[in-house]
Amino acid sequence: MDIIKYIDKIRQDFPALKTKVFGKPLAYLDNAATTQKPQLMLDAIEDYYSAINANVHRGVHFLSESATEAYEGARQRLQQFINAKHSNECIFVRGTTEAINLVATSFGQQFVKQGDEIVLTQMEHHSNIVPWKLLCERSGAELRIIPVNNNGELELSNLDAIFSERTKIVAVTHISNSLGTINPVKEIISKAHERNIPVLIDGAQAAAHIKIDVQDLDCDFYVLSAHKCYGPMGVGLLYAKQKWLEQMPPYQGGGDMILQVTFEKITYNSLPFKFEAGTPSVADAIGWHAALDYLAHLDHKAIAQHEKVLLEYCVQRLQELPHLKFWGTAKNKAPIVSFTLDDIHPHDIGTIVNEYGVAVRTGHHCNMPLMDSFGITGTVRASFGLYNTIQEVDQLCDALQNVHKIFRR
Ligand code: PLP
Repeated sequence: MDIIKYIDKIRQDFPALKTKVFGKPLAYLDNAATTQKPQLMLDAIEDYYSAINANVHRGVHFLSESATEAYEGARQRLQQFINAKHSNECIFVRGTTEAINLVATSFGQQFVKQGDEIVLTQMEHHSNIVPWKLLCERSGAELRIIPVNNNGELELSNLDAIFSERTKIVAVTHISNSLGTINPVKEIISKAHERNIPVLIDGAQAAAHIKIDVQDLDCDFYVLSAHKCYGPMGVGLLYAKQKWLEQMPPYQGGGDMILQVTFEKITYNSLPFKFEAGTPSVADAIGWHAALDYLAHLDHKAIAQHEKVLLEYCVQRLQELPHLKFWGTAKNKAPIVSFTLDDIHPHDIGTIVNEYGVAVRTGHHCNMPLMDSFGITGTVRASFGLYNTIQEVDQLCDALQNVHKIFRR
């Protein structure tokens, strides 16, 4: 296969990639923040609002039944995407952040009490720290942290000392959003399960790059956001083993999550509806379904190889720049490159390369504890998606040469 032609063809499916920035072609290298959207997904959302728009699960009329069918169809598509055993283990949420808040609140209320421990890692996104910290403040539990080594890999040799009788849950990211490290989550899950400790995997960064199989991982919870894997903003997934969802109390109250309401007593709906209060983001679920169908038709092997080439080429080209330091050099990495350039502030670098049409992320990437452990306030992050090209890596590196000139280094 001619990969250059193949990627060029894929690019035609993403209208935002045609944007010009200050008259220059956009090089969109901020995919870890959010990915661009395929036209098929945009069409599916427009079609829903144009032809079907109705509330789900509530009406007996034609449009409501059509909307319900499409919404539940999206759930089944998601079940297939992550290989969940049952579709009722798939809860629609607003995104990764809401999914983690749901688990921390509901699981926490049921299972976590004073003196218990929650194990996180040094590289977690704030979305996988703050909800647990809030739970600790409410319950009197404490956080235990798995450290990260200089390469940006988890230091797992001490797990036996970190897990204890008091550990109630482990929450760990599948792929680091600022370093790109792919964590050995299967190994962590198996170690935790030896002690009957449940594990939540934050898959926000993983869904766009690796095949997710929750049954193979045997994780207890898996969370992700559609917008980071070519789907719409405003919708995400909480996967949880049925045994946990059955024991956990509802997260929010309202329509759809009840069977019966009296002022004396409320009977909850069955799964998954017990955890979906109020009108869901129906159009976005349907759009996500369309995006998943679009992705399913792509050549995943070729794309994985292409993303690997982009990563290696980017590292090789960046090495040409004097005073550049990489953060995150793990052996097993997703196409995410983080670096600092001498003592130039990452925001200055981001602002300058923006003038050359290059979109990168700068700052702490919602990883303040990780940045603190490295003794830095932030990095510049280039994160690649399936439609990026070698020319865009060159565009970034050429723009960075200008940063050097401006700062006379
Ligand atoms: N977890 C990780 C690893 C992330 O990268 C992000 C977003 O960058 C989140 C959680 C939060 O995702 P969202 O803002 O879609 O809820």
